Amino acid sequence: MERALASADGDRSPGDALGRPLRDLRISVTDRCNFRCVYCMPKEVFGRDFQFLKREELLTFEEIARLARVFVACGVRKIRVTGGEPLVRRNVERLIEQLAGIDGLRDLTMTTNGSLLASKARTLREAGLHRVTVSLDSLEDDVFQAMNDVDFPVAQVLGGIEAAARAALTPVKVNMVVKRGGNEHSVLGMAGHFRGTGHVLRFIEYMDVGTTNGWRLEEVVPAAEIVRSIDALWPLEPVEPNYRGEVAGRYRYRDGAGEIGVIASVTQPFCRDCTRARLSADGRLYTCLFASRGHDLRSLLRGGARPVRLAGPRPQVSAPGGREGGRDRGAPHHHLDKADGPLLRAPHRRDASAAQGGDVADRGLARAHPTADPRGGFGSVSPTRSR
Ligand code: SF4
Repeated sequence: MERALASADGDRSPGDALGRPLRDLRISVTDRCNFRCVYCMPKEVFGRDFQFLKREELLTFEEIARLARVFVACGVRKIRVTGGEPLVRRNVERLIEQLAGIDGLRDLTMTTNGSLLASKARTLREAGLHRVTVSLDSLEDDVFQAMNDVDFPVAQVLGGIEAAARAALTPVKVNMVVKRGGNEHSVLGMAGHFRGTGHVLRFIEYMDVGTTNGWRLEEVVPAAEIVRSIDALWPLEPVEPNYRGEVAGRYRYRDGAGEIGVIASVTQPFCRDCTRARLSADGRLYTCLFASRGHDLRSLLRGGARPVRLAGPRPQVSAPGGREGGRDRGAPHHHLDKADGPLLRAPHRRDASAAQGGDVADRGLARAHPTADPRGGFGSVSPTRSR
């Protein structure tokens, strides 16, 4: 276990072949959303006939919490609850309560489109949520509505942001996906609005989320261009990252009016320091935001696997050269690799890995039969939800 990393606070966490620890788990609680953002769930694909996951296919809150405990035991320190839109899953605050009670978890946050936040903020805070990130692509109704494609008004999202601030779900982060020819002209208006509020506005380069959004490179507004345009009006200076693996480049206003972030996932990929993995609503573990194949943890859970106490060396997270899913983007690929001690034990069950000489109990949690994601790229990533 030479590659295991000793973190700043002294605990030893599994690292992959590139020395990257797994710190940050995003958990999708639903594949549904009440918006149809053109870059994420375009109506032509996600129309009336689209087959979303059935209730029994979703992980239950208890299953999610159980897996979350395993990941925290492996070194995960931050959990982000995502969707789809997480607040459309009924009683999601009950899940928050369970997650908030996990020993060792330091940061529990949620990314939401803000549409239901005004009514939920206080309950979420009381359940133990630390903070929220809200997606908002423009302050202009016509632009925002053209992007969310369900005529949802800006004012209601702003109301949600303020409710979150009042409920102390802070600092509130606001994510804006910037698309050339779509909302790039809204950048300065958004920056001006959120300067001095204590909220952190983050600009995200428009990115390819699979096969559904017809992504073209010409539609990407590079982060450097965004920073330049803001700096010309309100001078900025760079700020050191908060921690290794932070995806947003940080800048602060020189006049003390707060800070912004830029997420340059297209022009400056941050794979080298990636510490993230994603658990989909149906229980697949994706070790890269761009992976189209996940590892089926739901089958392990429902097949009778049980958590065992970690003893001795921990399983490694490895990056075996960067190929995992159907779509290799040169992005990071964490694997929970062959374990010295299993995290989930399935005593009476053999699976695909048995053909390679061992059953699930002999191998690591996620080593068990990777399978194709039936829903393609969207199953693995959602642009604003994934941050
Ligand atoms: S980007 Fe967010 S709000 Fe928009 S459709 Fe996707 S999940 Fe829903």
